[in-house]
Amino acid sequence: MGGFKTLAMLVERDYIGIFGEMNVGKSSVMNLLTQQNTSLVDATPGTTADTKISLLEIHGIGPVKLFDTAGLDEKGELGNKKRKKVYSDLKECDLALVVIDPSSYSFEVEEELIERARDMDKQILIIKNLFSEDKEVGIPLLKFYKKIAIKANDDSYRQRLLNFVIDNFESRNKKQALLPFVEREEYYVLNIPMDVETPPGRYLRPQAMTEEYITRNWAYPVSFRMDLNKARSERKKEEKQRFLSFIDNFKKGPEAIITDSQAMDIMAEWVPADIKLTTFSIAMINYFSRGKLRLFVQGLKVLKELEEEERVLIVEACNHSRVGEDIGTVQIPNYFREKFPGVVLEHNFGREFQENEQLSEYKLIIHCGGCMISSQELNARIRDVENLQIPFTNYGLLLSYIQGDKALRKVLEPWGLASA
Ligand code: SF4
Repeated sequence: MGGFKTLAMLVERDYIGIFGEMNVGKSSVMNLLTQQNTSLVDATPGTTADTKISLLEIHGIGPVKLFDTAGLDEKGELGNKKRKKVYSDLKECDLALVVIDPSSYSFEVEEELIERARDMDKQILIIKNLFSEDKEVGIPLLKFYKKIAIKANDDSYRQRLLNFVIDNFESRNKKQALLPFVEREEYYVLNIPMDVETPPGRYLRPQAMTEEYITRNWAYPVSFRMDLNKARSERKKEEKQRFLSFIDNFKKGPEAIITDSQAMDIMAEWVPADIKLTTFSIAMINYFSRGKLRLFVQGLKVLKELEEEERVLIVEACNHSRVGEDIGTVQIPNYFREKFPGVVLEHNFGREFQENEQLSEYKLIIHCGGCMISSQELNARIRDVENLQIPFTNYGLLLSYIQGDKALRKVLEPWGLASA
């Protein structure tokens, strides 16, 4: 019984839905993907009365549940009922394949569909089904999404369509280890300064997740509370001594230190060369982006060419209370004021990012660890800025970069990455 449950949990099916207007070729797309006539294809509008489901295995993705949904533009009471069902299917889907006929006169239905899917942070791919020649589709939101043009009733497009889906879809089965470098029976130090923002009675989410991950993997987490004020004051020596004797007290030295990013100015200097170092924020962004740390590292390159009046957006995924030396509102702005005095800094908190219509105007986006949003939501953000070709980086990476190339290389080494 337990074994069956474990197996069932190991591989989940990805839910992929095919959406669009009546008679736009959704069922033909379904048939292309399944290579069989699972859907009745007929030129009479509204042939798909309800959602048709197919279970299949797509090589390169894994087990998939495919939904061929009813047309969204059907009128009348029955049409309303079908629309409700389609939108409830959309909620379930990991990927929405939106089929569009570019020769249509109006794209209102598709626009609403994409807006709704976007609000739900769904992965979206656009399939232009060509009944005649290809044309620009006048939906502004399409700039965020990858497109393919095919003739869905022509079998020769099958492989191209499959490759398009495989190359651009991220399966929910892609798992990411929080700290892939953790080894059994080794010690790991968590540097937790506990400033005024730290709530009493619990660790912050990144700290709690890190401690749990290390313990679960049969290694040993040990916490150190660094006094940041002392470490930056004239009594710095005392705090350094306390830190170094803490490290020396291990019979076997710790393998790595995971630090609060705001202590990077100190850790870059104090951590002995033979102990690995990284930050909670870096670990979080890698985990919630499902391993896309490399993309965040690349974004740092922009810092070499930032010019006056260019805009930089600082993004925090949650609305935690901000007091004291907050990274996003105090530390990073201080750095920019000193290094790039003419650069314009803006902030987005919580869900403001999704509503920001000026994303393409920024020269750089700096994102927090993203620990309070889902991977789905963070990856939707990454897709948006990637499609707009806006470089992006992360708090932990930036605060390490500020300390110089050596510090950046050190925090990236545990992840097998080189600096930007
Ligand atoms: S979501 Fe971002 S700002 Fe909020 S606690 Fe996590 S890392 Fe910090």
